[in-house]
Amino acid sequence: MKKKENILIVGAGLCGSLLALRLGQRGYKVTVMESRPDLRKVDISVGRSINLAFSDRGIKAMNMVGLTDKVMPLCIPMRGRLVHDVQGNTFMANYSGREDEYINSISRGDLNSLLLTEAEEHEAVDIVFNKECTGIDIEENIATFHCYETKKEMQLKADVIIGTDGAGSILRKSYYLERKFLFSYSQNFLNHGYKELSIPATKTGGFRTEKNALHIWPRGNFMIIALPNLDGSFTVTLFLSYDEGEYNFNNLTTKEIVQEFFEKEFPDLVPLIPELTTEYFENPTAPLGTVKCSPWSYKNNTLLMGDAAHAIVPFYGQGMNASFEDVVVLNEVLDQYEGDWEKVFKVYEKTRKKDTDAIADLAIDNYYEMRDHVANPIFKEKRKLEIDLEKAFPETYFSKYSMVTFNEDIPYSKAMEIGRAQDKALLNLIIDDEIDTTADLQEILKKVQEETNEILDEDNVAKTMKH
Ligand SMILES: Cc1cc2nc3c(=O)[nH]c(=O)nc-3n(C[C@H](O)[C@H](O)[C@H](O)COP(=O)(O)OP(=O)(O)OC[C@H]3O[C@@H](n4cnc5c(N)ncnc54)[C@H](O)[C@@H]3O)c2cc1C
Repeated sequence: MKKKENILIVGAGLCGSLLALRLGQRGYKVTVMESRPDLRKVDISVGRSINLAFSDRGIKAMNMVGLTDKVMPLCIPMRGRLVHDVQGNTFMANYSGREDEYINSISRGDLNSLLLTEAEEHEAVDIVFNKECTGIDIEENIATFHCYETKKEMQLKADVIIGTDGAGSILRKSYYLERKFLFSYSQNFLNHGYKELSIPATKTGGFRTEKNALHIWPRGNFMIIALPNLDGSFTVTLFLSYDEGEYNFNNLTTKEIVQEFFEKEFPDLVPLIPELTTEYFENPTAPLGTVKCSPWSYKNNTLLMGDAAHAIVPFYGQGMNASFEDVVVLNEVLDQYEGDWEKVFKVYEKTRKKDTDAIADLAIDNYYEMRDHVANPIFKEKRKLEIDLEKAFPETYFSKYSMVTFNEDIPYSKAMEIGRAQDKALLNLIIDDEIDTTADLQEILKKVQEETNEILDEDNVAKTMKH
């Protein structure tokens, strides 16, 4: 088996640093080139999501590299969505009926730092900062970098180049600019962007609102969420249209209008964000989009992974988890075909693409669910029923959310197929008054399963007819 090839990874974000660590553990010689300064030495958090929801697919990846014990102390469990209405009333909607199923809030910086440090422990892993990749010759395997320190250009040649350089990937750009093969690519932006604000800790370092929840202020066409940080603060994210609705990013142009908007729509949040208008104008507004492309690789030379291959909108809290899962899947494919990179790349994409396409679509579904449906009475009834079913039948009943978030061994594509059918079944039964919510849960489960199977059968017939 050929080992110790030189691997060049472009981008030392979450995916690139985990990949470097895993390839280092597998014995490869790895160089990682990152455009930003070392985040362990310089604060570069501004404008990027400061904390993230981290769940079971991500935890599986940490298990793979033996880091779970170091990662879990960085986490704050969030057991459900704490929904805030316009009057300031709140209700908690748990993520699952099973006690041990919850998501975690984790700092992007802390997690990235840990992965970088662990990767660097391997002598064969070298991480270089302040080097921005400006182009990749995919035929010759040569990457060009601009060094921010010397202001000079430099080139690196490697046996294999892996682009983990995020949603704006330079490697992906080389694929379509060089036109060496048929490259399909789509990038769809939402009409909504996002802006981060913050709720500071109390003077004694405590939390100003419920710590163990993901807070949501759903308002139909826009929403705010807040996730807790270990220091007692919360990172608050406003999702709002650029140009639609009474208030939008384009017309919130003065401190007075911003204050008016928040007081009208989020009155209970205003006292929690003392620097509201200052932060609003200091912090950037960023777009949200979905990137799909194929193929992800060229010959045995280059491969796209993480957001570079499949950036998604953040509403399922799965982008990072999916990028970590990429490394788990690549690792499994390497177990089978190590030594034949072309085969590894092909099998990896064939195994993985349907799942990243699925989570991209599910994330868009959740965008509507979070900003609109969570406060809808039928949706609330459906969620309550699902939680009751999960509590009563912990081994049998799994909601779509649970399959996606807590069942790392169910591929995203399967979770989407079954989860969507199950959602449809539940909504049909509730809307048609075919479920008596006071009836025996065993009877309800049977009805839901029958209706779900019928829908899945119809879907399968439709698929067969298409082919
Ligand atoms: C608002 C928001 C909230 C989110 N919330 C969640 C969440 O709750 N849970 C979740 O799982 N996911 C979440 N995500 C998604 C998550 O952030 C991404 O999926 C994840 O960061 C992808 O990791 P990555 O390493 O592929 O890309 P990135 O994290 O973007 O890393 C790419 C790295 O490459 C570097 N780079 C870029 N270009 C170059 C270049 N030319 N040369 C050299 N280096 C380069 C960058 O500096 C960066 O370090 C969220 C995303 C957003 C925008």
